[in-house]
Amino acid sequence: MAARIGLTGGIGSGKSTVLGMLQALGAAAIDADAISRATTAAGGAAIAAIREKFGPDFVTADGALDRGRMRERAYAHPEARRELEQIIHPLVGEEIARQVDAALAAGARCIVFDIPLLVESGRWRHQLDRVLVVDCEPETQVARVSARSGLAPDEVRAIIAAQAPRALRLAAADLVICNEGLTLEALRNEVEQAARTFGL
Ligand code: ADP
Repeated sequence: MAARIGLTGGIGSGKSTVLGMLQALGAAAIDADAISRATTAAGGAAIAAIREKFGPDFVTADGALDRGRMRERAYAHPEARRELEQIIHPLVGEEIARQVDAALAAGARCIVFDIPLLVESGRWRHQLDRVLVVDCEPETQVARVSARSGLAPDEVRAIIAAQAPRALRLAAADLVICNEGLTLEALRNEVEQAARTFGL
């Protein structure tokens, strides 16, 4: 059985870096956000049901979800967000199952689920053998993200404040990689140690 690992971490924690290292060690990666976005992109699997549920005005000329209109709708009618999720979630689940099957058929020993909202949304935990959290100090997050994106430190702090609290993320973890004061080489060593426990 391939190990199923949920990977999460706050913005700038180094989650993408760790994922890349795990992939280099042979893990298959499943990107839950990308799968979710694809369902509502042009020609996505959710579009027909969105047209039926919300009306043709919610689909753009090129066949994608009209996100602006949906935002307005969800603002005026909060239940619309849940209705949209009820369309998208099962489709995301199906696509994830398809990608898991493909990874297993290709002989993957470890499947890493990249799930930004793993802690916020309880629906993932039961599918995962272990939850790996990449963690660092908030000010390190701020420094990394400002350097990468050019956002002002306060803008990064606002993003961090909107994410799951650090303590909640740590409480959900089976394993924590502390990406603080580490060179990338030292981080790679940590990832290799974790990877061994995942059968890589
Ligand atoms: P996340 O995916 O959690 O937002 P990233 O993996 O993209 O974070 O890392 C944010 C930035 O910090 C990237 O530019 C990355 O190269 C850098 N970074 C992460 N960890 C380290 C580290 N240990 N040493 C140096 N740079 C790092």
